[in-house]
Amino acid sequence: MSPTDSIEAHLASIAIHGDDELARVPDVVQPIGVSTTFLYDKNPQNLKTAKERANQPADSGQYYSRISQPVVRNAEKVIGDITGGHAVLFNSGLSAFLAAMLYFNPKRVFANDCYFGCHGVLKLLKRNYGVETYGLDKIEELAEKGDVIHVESPINPTGVAFDFEKYVLLGHSKGAYVMVDSTFAPPPLQDPFKFGVDLVMHSATKYFGGHSDLLAGVIITKDESVKKDILQDRGYTGAIPGSLEAWLLTRSLRTLNMRVRTQAASANAIVKYLSENIDKLPKLAKVYHSSLQTEEFVKKQLPLGGGPVFSIEVVDKETARQLPSRLKLFAHATSLGGVESLIEWRAISDERCSETLLRVSIGVEDQEDLLQDLVQALS
Ligand SMILES: *Cc1c(COP(=O)(O)O)cnc(C)c1O
Repeated sequence: MSPTDSIEAHLASIAIHGDDELARVPDVVQPIGVSTTFLYDKNPQNLKTAKERANQPADSGQYYSRISQPVVRNAEKVIGDITGGHAVLFNSGLSAFLAAMLYFNPKRVFANDCYFGCHGVLKLLKRNYGVETYGLDKIEELAEKGDVIHVESPINPTGVAFDFEKYVLLGHSKGAYVMVDSTFAPPPLQDPFKFGVDLVMHSATKYFGGHSDLLAGVIITKDESVKKDILQDRGYTGAIPGSLEAWLLTRSLRTLNMRVRTQAASANAIVKYLSENIDKLPKLAKVYHSSLQTEEFVKKQLPLGGGPVFSIEVVDKETARQLPSRLKLFAHATSLGGVESLIEWRAISDERCSETLLRVSIGVEDQEDLLQDLVQALS
């Protein structure tokens, strides 16, 4: 692969081979290790003090698993390679977000109406340290050097996109950092770094994990020295994931490209059908998704179309309560990003949400089957 080739073009290959160079045993699938502690070098001449190791990468050499361990490193290597950055893995999306806040240490955070848990973290920072939180509309007026602009896009639960370029220009003009929660549009759908974003986070629980069976989060930076600092912080917060999660995650990353492409293509087709046939579906009031947005920036940010999550508004609260139970292929549960399709009456888990809104996460089942299931329930 030549260095000029785009990551997108080779995503499928990188996801399989990104960590080849870290292989420790000849097994094609690297083993899951559960050890918390690792032998120091047997040759006394190779032993270095902590001071002597100060300029080496934070995860170089492994001696204690709160700091670094091989299964986590493999997942970080693959995620870094498929995103064109340097990845640090955490034990949940929210601990990744908290780590970004600890690293940036802002006085003010400007965020859109993002995932309620990220707002929960901001509330803790406000309670303990007086960190102020504002909407993105206040950047021009109030942002100062060292503040953070946090843009979740596409946003939870609607799947609607926000303009990265606009917030990067505005944020940087104030000396603020700009970070993006790209959970709803993982590779190959979206690359926030192309727009000059400083830091990207994902809840790896969702598409990176992809099978609703692991909790993890990731921060990605273009700057290796930032990775080193964040790794060092993680050594003290103890937010490294366990071996099982990291091993499952590495396994899941192998199929990220095909899963996400299939899920997104199905979601885009289903959204198109529902929005074009809204007058034939008596229970359906509105469809939300980035593929329905007409602004110029949306196609630039999401060249393959919108992500696999969209939302629908139904005619009344009672319909919203009943509809999930009328579906055969959609499980009524929170979360998203797994191979199985999910639907959620969102007001159950997010108190800010409209009581007629249902969030839909499209899985890898047959697209036509999924559409038929939704159509019968909305008829
Ligand atoms: C789920 C989610 C999170 C939180 O991730 P966890 O892994 O559940 O901690 C953050 N942002 C978005 C957009 C999410 O969907």
